[in-house]
Amino acid sequence: MLPVIALVGRPNVGKSTLFNRLTRSRDALVADYSGLTRDRKYGEGRLGDRNYIVIDTGGISGDEEGIDTHMADQSLAAIDEADVVLFLVDARAGLTAADEMIAHHLRRNHKKSWLVMNKTDAIDADSAAAEFYGMGLGDPLHIAAAHGKGVRQLVDLVLEDFPEQEEETEQEKEEAGIKMAIVGRPNVGKSTLVNRMLGEERVVVYDQAGTTRDSIYIPYERFEQRYTLIDTAGVRRRGKVHETVEKFSVIKTLQAMEDSNVVILVLDAREGIVEQDLHLLGFVLESGRSLVIAVNKWDGMTADDKADVKSELDRRLGFVDFARIHFISAMHGTNVGHLYESVEEAYESATARWTSNQLTRILEDAVASHQPPMARGRRIKLRYCHLGGHNPPLLVVHGNQIDAVPGSYKRYLENTYRKVLKLMGTPLRIEFKGSE
Ligand code: GDP
Ligand code: GDP
Repeated sequence: MLPVIALVGRPNVGKSTLFNRLTRSRDALVADYSGLTRDRKYGEGRLGDRNYIVIDTGGISGDEEGIDTHMADQSLAAIDEADVVLFLVDARAGLTAADEMIAHHLRRNHKKSWLVMNKTDAIDADSAAAEFYGMGLGDPLHIAAAHGKGVRQLVDLVLEDFPEQEEETEQEKEEAGIKMAIVGRPNVGKSTLVNRMLGEERVVVYDQAGTTRDSIYIPYERFEQRYTLIDTAGVRRRGKVHETVEKFSVIKTLQAMEDSNVVILVLDAREGIVEQDLHLLGFVLESGRSLVIAVNKWDGMTADDKADVKSELDRRLGFVDFARIHFISAMHGTNVGHLYESVEEAYESATARWTSNQLTRILEDAVASHQPPMARGRRIKLRYCHLGGHNPPLLVVHGNQIDAVPGSYKRYLENTYRKVLKLMGTPLRIEFKGSE
């Protein structure tokens, strides 16, 4: 499971600035589920060799009257979801009443929290720190989020106690089979789909042992193929005791994606594609997982409506053109069986083990029919290729002057590999390595 870091603090201390540093996110990768989760902003990030999720809690209003409600409504929810809390204060502004209020809440909350003093650029940080010592949250850590100063060290320090993600053993992998995460925003029909998939007669559901955090992991077998369905909608929760207030959780969704081989993203045909769907797609892309898109509630749509939805998909989902799209009715079961064909195809594409010989031969053919350009008076040479990872497949191409390989040529290689290897449903990453 990815560790979850929450950023709290009064407005203007630099939370968004730090969030952007930590996630290096383009806007599309930030899920801002306003209204649903009361303005918590989620991002996935990686610094050094640690992956994590960050929650930005937006502003805790500094006015004394509102602070308790805001604390309760928003930051407390984020603190609950988090493993680590970073409490930001502003070295330049010094200690304020709002800071003390937040500190008071944190001391009572017992979550592992760190006091982080931001904006320590070009000032005497040590003397600025003096007044924050008294808050009872330990020595403040010094950063300057705007300049990235101290940020890497901060992450290393606060995540030090979290175990690195352990590699699954071969036996665990075999038992889990293909891990599918069913994700989508609220009300698109995830629960209905989960029930439909598990309710099929040919499905044999095993003991639901491995439940992790909030999502439910359901191992089963269908036509002698093993699967684990990761149910973010919480359909098969044992007993009602664990029922959360919030049915939809971004953290749950992100963790499920991270832990899956193939993501089934459910869209609602009646609502078309909305901003949240695109945010979720952004996260899938970032995770590198395979993707199958299920456009649900296809029943009872008029021919005109269907045509409208299809043209909207064409227009807005061009950036995930590697994914198969299915038009289904989870309620009636229409086309649900076909999802499995695409899931399997995507899984195979994402986990195939090509030899360096195969990959190098494809590279040689590609280069022979279309040479890379000259750079600095010499021809760019691409010599060989090996497989550097899977799910998503990573192709490592070795050559010289690789820094000069133009984007158009990279796309040509990617398309060639996709075609020759018959890749479907998975993103493909290509990395160039110099060998001079
Ligand atoms: P938030 O309201 O807590 O999310 O704060 P923002 O991230 O929006 O930052 C508030 C202001 O502080 C902006 O003008 C930032 O440019 C500035 N700021 C953020 N980090 C730093 C820093 O490390 N040094 C300085 N000097 N200014 C910063
Ligand atoms: P979730 O929040 O994503 O788990 O969505 P649910 O499975 O709870 O479904 C939300 C609503 O959409 C419910 O009222 C379902 O009955 C309805 N629904 C789900 N699938 C379909 C479908 O295929 N067709 C139609 N017409 N309604 C559906």
